[in-house]
Amino acid sequence: MKLVTFQNQGGAEKIGVLSASGNSVIPAEETGVFYESMQELIGKGSREEFSALAKAALEKKGLPLETIRILAPIPHPSQDIICLGINYMDHAEESARFKKEEFNGERPYAVYFSKRVTNAVADGEPIDGHFDIVDSLDYEAELAVIIGKEAYHVAPEDAVEYVFGYTVLNDVSARTIQMRHKQWYFGKSLDGFTPMGPWLVTRDEVTWPPKLGIWSRVNGELRQESNTSLLIFDIPFVISELSQGMTLLPGTIISMGTPAGVGMGFEPPRFLSSGDVVECGIEGIGVLTNPVK
Ligand code: MG
Repeated sequence: MKLVTFQNQGGAEKIGVLSASGNSVIPAEETGVFYESMQELIGKGSREEFSALAKAALEKKGLPLETIRILAPIPHPSQDIICLGINYMDHAEESARFKKEEFNGERPYAVYFSKRVTNAVADGEPIDGHFDIVDSLDYEAELAVIIGKEAYHVAPEDAVEYVFGYTVLNDVSARTIQMRHKQWYFGKSLDGFTPMGPWLVTRDEVTWPPKLGIWSRVNGELRQESNTSLLIFDIPFVISELSQGMTLLPGTIISMGTPAGVGMGFEPPRFLSSGDVVECGIEGIGVLTNPVK
């Protein structure tokens, strides 16, 4: 099923499930499921409650999409997002070229970094380019994995049990800021640099491990096109490796990295400008569309 966070008539943030037809949302409270946020549902929801939501998606009418405002599925993550850097080989090559670094085609260890998100940007909402301080705004279509239960010392073959679901994430990046501060944190954490959504797709809807087409378009032009089967370090590896030393809590978001075709990969680079429209899509998950402000 597809879980959403939404606002009705400008009211409080609520959670619900997308109807099977895809054109309405059934509020969770209408199915007897009462949680204040998606993170609370992920951490505390029972098997019976998830069954009730799945049933409602098939049977209930719900609120038409045009009457509500869909928010990012986890609008206010309780911890920074864990990100994978250069986790597709073709992106590793273009990234090294842009940075004028040597790249020998070997990547023995995963690159982990984090991204701060106070308010994740919803599908359809604008990305603030911060053009007063940003001269190299870039997009990165990524598969984001949401952890469903506390994970510590997880073996790769057991990792699937710890995955709650998936969403599409655009790891918006200001390249100059990203590079000049050595750590990528600032250049990837400006307000509004994390569009996410349109919804959260539960694990059962996707084959394991996910082998899904992933792409991005800028103003309709295809820029990135790959498949999540080409991840260098895949989801079972990442959950296992991280959990050997750090506890991953329910609601943790892990963004798996982006394939080749980002703006800095072109010669000359093709960065984003005000008025551009970026679409990031993943087969079976959804399409996330955001104009640049
Ligand atoms: Mg990224």
